Amino acid sequence: MNIQTGSYYWPNTFPDAPAYPPLAENITCDVLIVGGGSSGAQCAYYLAKEDLNVVVIDKGQIGRGSTSTNTCILQYSGEKKFTDLVQTFGDDYITRHLQLCQQAIDDIEAACQEISYDAEFKRRDTLYNVSEEKDQLGLQKECEWLQERGAPVAWVTEEWIGNHYSFQKPGAIYSRNDGEMNPFIFTHGLMEFAHRNGVKIFEDTAMVGEHYEENIPVIKTNQGSSIRAKVVIYAAGYDAMEIKTEKKARFVSTYTVTTEPVDDFIGWYNHTLIWETARPYIYLRTTKDGRIIIGGLNEDTAKPEERDKKLVHKRDQLLREIHVRFPGITVSSAYYSAAFYGGMVDGLPMVGMYHPYPNSYFLLGYGDNGTVYSMVLAKLIKDRIVKGRSDDIKLYEPHRPLTKKRLYKS
Ligand SMILES: Cc1cc2nc3c(=O)[nH]c(=O)nc-3n(C[C@H](O)[C@H](O)[C@H](O)COP(=O)(O)OP(=O)(O)OC[C@H]3O[C@@H](n4cnc5c(N)ncnc54)[C@H](O)[C@@H]3O)c2cc1C
Repeated sequence: MNIQTGSYYWPNTFPDAPAYPPLAENITCDVLIVGGGSSGAQCAYYLAKEDLNVVVIDKGQIGRGSTSTNTCILQYSGEKKFTDLVQTFGDDYITRHLQLCQQAIDDIEAACQEISYDAEFKRRDTLYNVSEEKDQLGLQKECEWLQERGAPVAWVTEEWIGNHYSFQKPGAIYSRNDGEMNPFIFTHGLMEFAHRNGVKIFEDTAMVGEHYEENIPVIKTNQGSSIRAKVVIYAAGYDAMEIKTEKKARFVSTYTVTTEPVDDFIGWYNHTLIWETARPYIYLRTTKDGRIIIGGLNEDTAKPEERDKKLVHKRDQLLREIHVRFPGITVSSAYYSAAFYGGMVDGLPMVGMYHPYPNSYFLLGYGDNGTVYSMVLAKLIKDRIVKGRSDDIKLYEPHRPLTKKRLYKS
């Protein structure tokens, strides 16, 4: 799959990233992870702490897939509001999902403290603003639902926003304790941690086929080698759909710009993460070296040529969106890209376990909070492999339980 095009900021922040050899010989292992992006690294990090023989393969280089385009805003609130998810799944179900996402941000922070590189993790507050008056009531209800569950959120008014930012919006949820980081360094940090703890990592090693010997997966690689594994975790990002299609997955095209460092963040309170209720939305963050990353303006196409022909136009539009909000900040583009972005139609990520793929897990951390979702799923898959069970994994199975209301409707 041609998942992205353009120029990428994150790999340039870590030019001396470690390299790993290709796999030239046949091997056996307890767990094979297919994919060396952030999701594969999150699995490798958890499994490295267990008494298991673990192998990671990547068809290219570590962290060069959508991990390189990830703007890496770390939030528990997603594109589909919790109050909407409750309509489909029920309150207890979605309250548990919220708790798992909050825990995952804590787990990411803890992992950043364990690794050898500085992944630039920082706790940030978020301004989730109303774009149009018609969205206000729904967002206020979302704020109340989160408050009832103890989330550190508050409703802020138009006046408050005007006093703290150089733009005005009708209202917003102001949430504390979200985060941001550098996804490329995070991924390399987790991989280096795993490697130091015995995980074998191979780059330029693509899975090109699989068969099963009495339900034991045997994976063939483009290097002519094969890997016999008790369990396989497919953490191949959006490319996973080339291995096994999942009907609930959908793709759109999305765009990002990373600016040159700016002199001053005039009118930008507290370096907050910013996003909005408009669809398609835009979202903004700042970086450690004083840049602005802006993304969004999604297009409903999964054709690379249609995605890419709009790239320059979208870059200019995103720069204008910065100017509209922050007229006091002078910006110019340093990196810009177009990418596919995957989500699940029902709004929750997924651990695919499919009958024709015995002893295999498809980690599909799809959605706008992909990094957070993958941290949730990596831990649940690890629990399932190590302890033989994980109650929470049921929340993310392909045939997730639906509420009665929804069952009778469909
Ligand atoms: C523009 C954009 C912005 C985003 N912003 C955010 C955000 O702000 N916050 C957030 O949480 N999430 C965000 N996401 C989502 C986030 O980027 C993804 O969730 C995350 O990067 C996924 O990592 P991954 O490891 O699953 O996929 P990838 O990084 O794509 O890694 C998959 C790896 O699998 C390898 N692979 C594929 N097929 C094979 C094979 N056959 N054999 C061997 N290896 C294979 C690839 O080479 C690749 O390295 C964003 C996504 C995009 C596109």
